[in-house]
Amino acid sequence: VIDLTRRTALAIPLAGLAVAAVPHSARAELYNDQQFPDITPHPAFAQTYREARGKFLAAARHAGAAISSQRLPALLGLDGQPLYMDFAWIGPADADVVIVSMSGTHGSEGFTGSAVQNDWLTSGNAAKLPPRVASLMVHAVNPFGFDRNLRVNENGVDLNRNFIDFSKPNLPDNPIYDAIHAQLPDIGAGHEDVIAQYNAVIAAAVVKYGEWAVFDACGRGQYRHPTGYGFGGTEAQWSSKTLVQELRRLCARARHVVYIDWHTIYPNGDGRQVFLCFNQTNDPLYRRVASWWTAQAIDRDIVNAQEGIRRPTRNGLAMWGVQRALAPRIDVAGAVVEFSCDPDGLVSSPDADERGEVWAQWLLANKDDQSLRSEFVRTFFRESAGPWRRGYQNGALAAARSTYARATVGAAVWARDNIAATPGKLLYFSAFT
Ligand SMILES: [Zn+2]
Repeated sequence: VIDLTRRTALAIPLAGLAVAAVPHSARAELYNDQQFPDITPHPAFAQTYREARGKFLAAARHAGAAISSQRLPALLGLDGQPLYMDFAWIGPADADVVIVSMSGTHGSEGFTGSAVQNDWLTSGNAAKLPPRVASLMVHAVNPFGFDRNLRVNENGVDLNRNFIDFSKPNLPDNPIYDAIHAQLPDIGAGHEDVIAQYNAVIAAAVVKYGEWAVFDACGRGQYRHPTGYGFGGTEAQWSSKTLVQELRRLCARARHVVYIDWHTIYPNGDGRQVFLCFNQTNDPLYRRVASWWTAQAIDRDIVNAQEGIRRPTRNGLAMWGVQRALAPRIDVAGAVVEFSCDPDGLVSSPDADERGEVWAQWLLANKDDQSLRSEFVRTFFRESAGPWRRGYQNGALAAARSTYARATVGAAVWARDNIAATPGKLLYFSAFT
C-alpha cells in the first residue's frame, strides 16, 4: 500500500500497517509472481503516457470509434509533445444507455485503466454491443499526472476531490488534517530523515485522534494545503471542467450512464478488483449496480473488510460531479473500480505511505526533471499502479473483461426497461456508508 497511487482511497497509514504485519515469508508465498516474475508485457500495457495514448487511439480507430480529443492548454509532456484527454465513442449516437469508462483520473493509475480500455477495444466487443447501448471511453482524465506518473494534476490537485461547489464562500474544512499538516516537515530533497519525520507525525496523530480519524482526515479531501494529502484545489480544474463538458455534449441523447472509473491500487491480490460504489446505499441506482457486479462486491461492510478499515468520508468525487452535471435528464450508476497491485518490498515497507507521499511531493516539485533520480521515482510509481509483471497484467485484464461484460448486460437490461432517469439525491460530500 502505497499511498500515492492508492490514494483514491486515500492515503493511508493504516492499510500499510496491515500489509506490513504479514511476515515476509508468508508474503513471498502470497506474491509468488514477484519472486520470479514473468516480465514479458501484455501488449495492452504501456510504459509511458505517450505510448498508452498511441495504443488507445489505434485500438479505438480499429474498433470504428468516433474519436475526439481535448488538449490540455499550455503544458507539454516530458517528451515536449502536447497532452490530451481523449474520447472514443462506439455504438449508436442516439444510444439510450452509455457505458462511460475512464482512465487516469489519478494520473499514473491510468497505466492499468488504459490497458483494460485497449483490451476491450481490441477484443471484438464493439461489434457485440446490445441495441441502444454505446460505449464511451475517456482516456487520461488527468493527462499531466499520467505523463509525469503523479497521482495529482499539474496544480497538485487530486481531481477526485475537486468536484465541489467552489461558488460557496467557505470551502469544506478539515481541522484534523490542518493540525497534522502544521506538523509535517518540508520535503526538501526528500531524504530518508524526512520520511521518518512524516512517519512520526502520522503516528503521533493516530495516538491523539485515533486511527480512523487520521485515515479520514488524510482521505476525505482538504482545500487549504496545496502540498498536502488529498488537496482538492481552490477552483475547478481543466480536467474537471473538460470531463463534465464533454460528457454533457456526447451523452446529450442518452438517459442512463453506466459509470466505471478505473483506478489502482490495493494490495488484495494481483489484479483483483475492489468496487467503490458511490451511489446512495440501497437507492434504485445502487440496486442496479448490485445487479451487475453483485451485492457482495459493492457491500460497504465487505469493502471495508477488504481494506481493513472503514472507508473515509469524501468531498468532491468525480462521480458526483458527473451526476450533477447530467441530471435531471440522465442518471448515473456505477463505481470507482480499483485494481489491486500486490506490493513489492519497498511498497510494503512499514513507512510505505509516508515514503510514497514524500516521493510524490518531491516529484511534483521537480515535475520537469529528467534526472536518473526522477526516472527512478517515476518508474516506482508506474510499477505501483501498473506493474510490469505478466501475472498482474493477466489478472487485471481478466477481471476487467468480466466487469465490462457484466456492465454491458446491465446496460442492455436498462435500455430494455425503457424508463426515464431517476438521478436521486445529488451530493458534494458523503460518508461511504
Ligand atoms: Zn485512484
